[in-house]
Amino acid sequence: KIIGIWILGDQLWMGQSALQSCVDKKHHQVIFIESLRHAQELPYHLQKLVLVWSAMRHFAEELKQAGWNVTYKQAEDFQTPLIEWIQQNQIAELRVMTPSDRPFAKLIESLNLPCQIQFTPNNRFIWGDAEFIQWASSRKRLIMEDFYREGRKRFDILMVGDLPAGGRWNFDKDNRQPPKGKLKLPEALWFECDRITQDVIDFVIQSPAFKDSQKYWQIQPFRWGVTRQQALQVLDFFIQTRLSNFGPYQDAMVTGEQTMWHAMLSPYLNLGLIHPLEVVQAAEKAYYENQGEWELNSIEGFIRQILGWREYMHGIYIYMGEDYPTKNWFNHAQPLPEFYWTGNTQMNCLYQILKQVKEIGYAHHIQRLMILNNFALIAGISPQELEDWFHAAFIDAYDWVMQTNVIGMGQFADGGMMASKPYAASANYVNKMSDYCKNCYYNPRDRTGEKACPFNFFYWDFLARHYDSLKNNHRMSQMLRNLERMSGEELGKIRDRASEWHKINSLT
Ligand code: FAD
Ligand code: SF4
Repeated sequence: KIIGIWILGDQLWMGQSALQSCVDKKHHQVIFIESLRHAQELPYHLQKLVLVWSAMRHFAEELKQAGWNVTYKQAEDFQTPLIEWIQQNQIAELRVMTPSDRPFAKLIESLNLPCQIQFTPNNRFIWGDAEFIQWASSRKRLIMEDFYREGRKRFDILMVGDLPAGGRWNFDKDNRQPPKGKLKLPEALWFECDRITQDVIDFVIQSPAFKDSQKYWQIQPFRWGVTRQQALQVLDFFIQTRLSNFGPYQDAMVTGEQTMWHAMLSPYLNLGLIHPLEVVQAAEKAYYENQGEWELNSIEGFIRQILGWREYMHGIYIYMGEDYPTKNWFNHAQPLPEFYWTGNTQMNCLYQILKQVKEIGYAHHIQRLMILNNFALIAGISPQELEDWFHAAFIDAYDWVMQTNVIGMGQFADGGMMASKPYAASANYVNKMSDYCKNCYYNPRDRTGEKACPFNFFYWDFLARHYDSLKNNHRMSQMLRNLERMSGEELGKIRDRASEWHKINSLT
C-alpha cells in the first residue's frame, strides 16, 4: 500500500520517526503544507514565519535530492490540499510523527480525510513521552534537579562511573555573576539569505495576511540559519567561541548585547533541525578534549539547560492536564500593556529588550524571565494574554515550550506545580544584573517618588496583594518578612502608585 507522510514545520530532520518508518522511499509520498490561516492565528513575528517556511522549503529540497517523492503546497487550510494529494496518489494511510504541540495533534485528529491516520512516536526529545510519565508518576514532587540527575545517569553524560564528573551535580554557585567592567563579548554567527529565503521574505512582505504583524516586527535583515547544515555550524561556532565561558555571565544583561554567551540554538532545536542529544554530546566531547583548560561550571551549566530544563519542560507539558493553559493561581486579570507590542515605554530595561525582540525575535533567558515575565507577574497581567504575546513575539515559541515556561515557571499560574516560588523581583535585581538602570528615566532606588521605578512599587504591591497565598511558602519568608517591616504609610503610598499606574496605562 502507498503511505503518505505529512511532515510538520517543526519536524525537519531525516531521523524523524514517520520518515524512518518507510524504508522504500520511491514507493511512498511526502507532503509539506504552508497554511496561511494557521499562520494568522496570532500576529506572529515575521522572522518566525520566514524561518519556519524557509526551513520547510529547504528540507523539502533535501528530501527530493535524497530520492523521496515530495509535494509542497501553499494553501488556506490543511484539509483541502491533503484530500487532493491523497486522492491523486491513491494513498492508503497518512503517517505523521506525533506533533509536539497538543492543539496541533487535535487539529489533525479532527480532519476529515479519505484514508486512515497513523501517528508515529515523537523522537525529537531525549526522553520519550512514556519514559517521562513513568518517572513522574513515581514521585510526590517533580523537582527539576532530581530529573536532571536521573538524565545524567540514564544517558551517561558527564559521569565517572556512578558519580558526577568533578564530584558535584551542579556548579551554579560559580555562575550567575553580574556584568563587571568591560566585558569582551563574542560575536554571534549569522547567515546571508539565499534565493529560497528571499522568496519567502518577498511573499510575507507582499501578503495582505501579515499587514498587522508588519506594525510590530522587523522582517529584515533576516540572518537566521534555515538548514541542518547551518544549525550544525551554529553549534560548532558556539562550542568553539562561547561554551567555555557560558557559565559566569549566564544571567547578565548588557545594553545592545543581544546574545552574550548564549548558544542561539533554540530556533534550530525547536524546528527539529538538530537533536538535543547531539548538542549535549558535542558539548561533553569538547569538554573532555579541552580538559584542564575549560572550567566544568560552564559546560555543566549548558548541559543542564538542555538535558535538564528543556527536557523537563517538555515532560511536564506531556504530563499536565489539558486545562494547564487556563491556570491562573493569582487570578491576575490586568490587560497586557500596549508597549509589549510597540516597545514604546520609558522603562529602559523593557525598552531595550522589546527593541531587540522587534529586531530578531530573540532574547536570552534572564531577559525573558526576569524582565519581560517578571514585570507582567508583579503588575498582575493576565497570564494567558502574556502567553499569547510570547507566542507571537519569539522566533523559538511553540505551544509545548510556552505553556511550561510562561504559565508555569514565569507566572506561577499553576500554583507551584513546577517552580518552588514565583520569580518576582524589584529593580534591585535588574540594577545588579544589568546596566539598564544607568540610562533610565526611572530611579531604581525609589519606590514612591515621582521617578519611582515601576518594578519597585509593583513588587511590593504584589507581595502585599498575595500575602495570604504566599505566607506558607518557606522560600518566600525572607521577602515577606521585609514586607512586614514596612510601615503602613509607606505601603499605602506604594500601593497607590501601583493602582495609579494601571489607571494611566489603561488610558493610553
Ligand atoms: P541558551 O541559554 O544558550 O540555552 C541552551 C538551550 O537550553 C536553549 O537553546 C534551549 O533549547 C534550552 N533551554 C534552556 N532553558 C530552557 C527552558 N526553560 N525551556 C526550554 N528550553 C530551555 N525557550 C524556547 O525554546 N522557546 C520559547 O518560546 C521560550 N520562551 C520562554 C519564555 C519565558 C518566559 C522563559 C522564562 C523562558 C522561555 N524559553 C523558551 C526558555 C529559554 O529562555 C530559551 O530556550 C533560551 O533563551 C533560548 O536561547 P539560547 O538557545 O541562546 O539558550
Ligand atoms: Fe528597569 Fe526600573 Fe532599572 Fe529603569 S530603573 S531600567 S525601569 S529596573
